[in-house]
Amino acid sequence: MADTLAQVQKDVRFWQRLLTFAGYKPGKVDGVNGRKTKAAAQEWQNDAERIKAEIGSFDERSERNIATLTPDTQRAARIWLKAAKAVADAEGYDVRIICGTRTYAEQDALYRKRPRVTKARGGQSMHNFGIAWDIGIFRGKEYIGDHALYAKVGKLYNQVPGITWGGTWKSFVDEPHYQLEKYSSSSAARNAFEV
Ligand SMILES: [Zn+2]
Repeated sequence: MADTLAQVQKDVRFWQRLLTFAGYKPGKVDGVNGRKTKAAAQEWQNDAERIKAEIGSFDERSERNIATLTPDTQRAARIWLKAAKAVADAEGYDVRIICGTRTYAEQDALYRKRPRVTKARGGQSMHNFGIAWDIGIFRGKEYIGDHALYAKVGKLYNQVPGITWGGTWKSFVDEPHYQLEKYSSSSAARNAFEV
């Protein structure tokens, strides 16, 4: 799993695609971390820092995962997380972002895991495009996988423009999952990502 942006950046082709998808200009997708790619990365970083200063920063694990999201998604995630933490805190819990972006290679590795943990190969998960995050509810250090707070903080998605929540899905309800609503499906996002 890409727990940090540095891990995402190691896969240079993926990183160049992600930069392009997010609206930056790293030049051709050629797997070389050259001048244009570095300049685009710096712009991404500047935007990310500005958004963080504007909205606020959070626990270390959430910060690491937020950093892997496209800056537009970082903005949405921070607005949502700020509200969600207030709701959870009032009940003595914390909410953290525990998953952000997975490269195609990481998604493929996850796909091969047995027992099966995902049906999605690289390019088939919204997490492969920097536009989705998953959360966990915690009490102190303890992760709590099942709790009414998942639904309660989920409903806050309504207050954040441009996002949708997996708890509203009909076929497969995914309460810890949030994503930009801009792309109706992972294939729509993939078409935009793999230009
Ligand atoms: Zn997810």
